[in-house]
Amino acid sequence: ATPTALIVGIGKGAEQGILIKDATSLEVARKIDAVVLDKTGTITEGHPIVVNSLWSKGTEETGNILYSLERLSEHPLAEAVVNEWKNETAIPVTGFENIPGKGIKGTVDNETYYVGNSDLLIANGVYPDEELQQQADIWHKEAKTVIWFGHSTKAIAVIAITDQMKSTSKEAIRRLRKMGITVYMLTGDNEDTAREIAQKAAIGHYKSSVLPQDKALFIKQLQQEGKKVAMVGDGINDSAALAQADLSIAMGKGSDIAMDTAMITILSSDLMKIPETIRLSQLTVRTIH
Ligand code: ADP
Ligand code: MG
Repeated sequence: ATPTALIVGIGKGAEQGILIKDATSLEVARKIDAVVLDKTGTITEGHPIVVNSLWSKGTEETGNILYSLERLSEHPLAEAVVNEWKNETAIPVTGFENIPGKGIKGTVDNETYYVGNSDLLIANGVYPDEELQQQADIWHKEAKTVIWFGHSTKAIAVIAITDQMKSTSKEAIRRLRKMGITVYMLTGDNEDTAREIAQKAAIGHYKSSVLPQDKALFIKQLQQEGKKVAMVGDGINDSAALAQADLSIAMGKGSDIAMDTAMITILSSDLMKIPETIRLSQLTVRTIH
């Protein structure tokens, strides 16, 4: 497209809440044949709330430790936990660490605590007890995200969290498909939850328990099959995948890192803006012929 057509296109995008940082993205978007979507904050609202929790006997009083750990994390799931236990008093945590795609850890009174998925606990030699595991399985089948809280010798609690699907996600995905585009969902969440959300959003292709670096690898593989790939994400964990994609789109309500990396930011975080972006690209390029 001519520089003038691109400037006009960028202006039109801005009017629609599509902020185009990199003009080449307007030329690329019309050629996209695969769109990869992150789940949390992209397909779903990204405002998870705690709906239930089960504590092993006598451990309820350690809610202040859970709260103190999660207030140090920037993950949307941490926000849900902090909200639920906001009346707790924060206590000092040392050695706080973020374990990408798995959770967090930190030390309180010489004891190391973990909050995250079951892999995180198992990797650290903490075995989920049967009662907690059974409850977790039930919640997974209800499409809830389950996080585990434990310390070096014991699983303390399981917490059920839900994150509503955005009202327009399903329609946006349908439109992309009508444009001949294959839609994929990638998530760090577990298989049951992922399947349930994919079904609700009518996405045929999804992958669960994906680590951040594997999101980028997945995109690379699609590219090696000759596909032009767009990645849409909102999180810190999505930046490598955004950098790998031919077209990178960040959700405006997500992390600053995602927006810094991406060529385009969708201010409203509405997925309907993805087919609109592709349409805008088609119109922009068409004006010069
Ligand atoms: P996604 O955004 O696709 O859900 P993430 O890579 O951000 O994937 O997270 C993967 C998983 O790691 C989460 O589903 C959760 O189980 C766990 N996790 C990550 N950070 C935290 C946290 N601060 N508290 C609890 N669990 C966490
Ligand atoms: Mg995310």
